[in-house]
Amino acid sequence: MALRAAVFDLDGVLALPSLASSWDRAEEELALPSGFLNGAFVKGGPDGSSARMMKGEITFSQWMPFMEENCRKCSEDSGICLPENFSINQIFGKALAARKVNDPMLKAALTLKKKGFTTCILTNIWLDDSTQRGSLAQMMCELRPHFDFLIESCRIGMAKPDPQIYKFVLDVLKASPNEVVFLDDFEVNLKPARDLGMVTILVHDTDTALRELEKVTGVQETDTSTLRKLLKDPLLRNFPVYRDGQRWVT
Ligand SMILES: [Mg+2]
Repeated sequence: MALRAAVFDLDGVLALPSLASSWDRAEEELALPSGFLNGAFVKGGPDGSSARMMKGEITFSQWMPFMEENCRKCSEDSGICLPENFSINQIFGKALAARKVNDPMLKAALTLKKKGFTTCILTNIWLDDSTQRGSLAQMMCELRPHFDFLIESCRIGMAKPDPQIYKFVLDVLKASPNEVVFLDDFEVNLKPARDLGMVTILVHDTDTALRELEKVTGVQETDTSTLRKLLKDPLLRNFPVYRDGQRWVT
């Protein structure tokens, strides 16, 4: 069965740099061991505070003290001292402010939409009640009009890689698994989708992922007729379109 729907992860796919890469940088700046922040983030597994935040059971502000506590525990466990200026709020604020829309990936989603694909964002995300919530809100405002659906984990009480969320996605898309291609930057999030029968693409770098997307969908990103239509789309009037590394400003 031919593909007719494309599902895109947000962080690390439609938005770069990913939070994970910003955490790597923060760890270097603060002289923390590599993987320290991720270790604190995933502490507690599916019942931990981060998983609860992603399912919308607690807000970002309510999660913050749990994350701080996890960092303290992780530092004790690994026998290191947290720097005096250590602030999770600051680390997150900086990472979210640095994150921008990944234009080539968005352009690929738009091309697929113009070719008749149903498009969707599927993101593990939190209810943001922080003082820095503007960064995330602005990004969602930029992206939302370009997709048919936006599925946010915190609003449906399920998060990737819970197999139920992929069934929810299929219900929303009204599609069979083998009609859907799903792009995510974490293999753990792709496996349940692939087990269901979706085509999956692990996104490590945008160019490789887009080549793979072109291959599985048969839709050429640089199709000029599609580009001409894109250029006329009022939603995209100020949106930069890329071709062969060159920026076309509409
Ligand atoms: Mg991601």
